[in-house]
Amino acid sequence: MFEGYEVIRNAPMRDYTTLRLGGPADYLAFPRSGEEVAGLFREAGERGLPVTVIGHGSNLLVLDGGIRGLVIRIGRGMSALRREENRITAQAGAMLSAVAGAAAEAGLSGLEFAAGIPGTCGGGVTMNAGAYDGEMSRVVREVSGIDREGRRIRLGREELDFGYRHSGIPARGLTVTEATFELETGNREAIRDRMAELNRRRAEKQPLDQPSAGSTFKRPEGYFAAALIDQCGLRGRAVGGAQVSEKHAGFLINRGGTSRDFLELMNLVAGIVRERTGVTLEPEIRVMGEESV
Ligand SMILES: Cc1cc2nc3c(=O)[nH]c(=O)nc-3n(C[C@H](O)[C@H](O)[C@H](O)COP(=O)(O)OP(=O)(O)OC[C@H]3O[C@@H](n4cnc5c(N)ncnc54)[C@H](O)[C@@H]3O)c2cc1C
Repeated sequence: MFEGYEVIRNAPMRDYTTLRLGGPADYLAFPRSGEEVAGLFREAGERGLPVTVIGHGSNLLVLDGGIRGLVIRIGRGMSALRREENRITAQAGAMLSAVAGAAAEAGLSGLEFAAGIPGTCGGGVTMNAGAYDGEMSRVVREVSGIDREGRRIRLGREELDFGYRHSGIPARGLTVTEATFELETGNREAIRDRMAELNRRRAEKQPLDQPSAGSTFKRPEGYFAAALIDQCGLRGRAVGGAQVSEKHAGFLINRGGTSRDFLELMNLVAGIVRERTGVTLEPEIRVMGEESV
């Protein structure tokens, strides 16, 4: 099965997520081109296997039972960049840090906010990732991708239905293979300084040495999730090996537990915050897979 593609059977998803949690994917593929992505979809379709697309796995909680069917990981095999005037086109597997670095090198401004987000370009656009007042929606010009029937599609920014940590990409069943960013001409040194400054702030505030998926919850309108969690006395609270970070209460971290611990901690935190403040915390991270095999 999946002859000619790079595919691992029973791949432990904890090795492919920054949270370092999750049971096995039946098949995990590492495509090297858009054609391979389309071919993988076709073959999975013929065999009736469900398909899940992931990037760097930095916003994912994969459950302990793992993921049935085929997981397509868009990463290093599809990470080429090209520049044309003030535009950079990146294959979906390029890391945001690499795209931001290439922009800085070319003296192009607009992606400074993304330099420290540890995900791919495809994941970033799909999530409309953002930080420090920047957001992918402001710099994306268009994306190319493949729909579930294997057709190539190109969509402009206005067709992507961007919102807070949201895009219309999942609803369209689109797998992003390439994204083009439109940037402003700037000063190379100033761009580099700004990236270094934002990365410094991250390192100071976030538990970057612990497995996490970044902020676990979305920012509720008019509040900050971390402040609410802190205010409820939940900093450091643990369920099994999952813990609310002592350094940043918005980050739930994995200290050697299971996905079940992590889900239980998420529910506990959201429940206590709702009860004590009346505010509902919605997960920002994407939960996928099955609870048990
Ligand atoms: C330490 C840390 C700090 C973080 N800081 C930030 C931050 O400041 N701001 C922020 O917004 N996020 C942040 N994150 C979360 C995460 O890095 C971003 O959401 C990132 O954009 C996810 O990219 P990814 O490639 O890892 O996607 P994944 O986590 O692999 O996938 C995320 C979603 O996108 C979909 N997807 C991935 N690739 C594709 C594709 N090619 N085509 C279609 N769908 C796709 C997946 O199905 C899934 O639904 C942080 C995470 C960590 C661990």
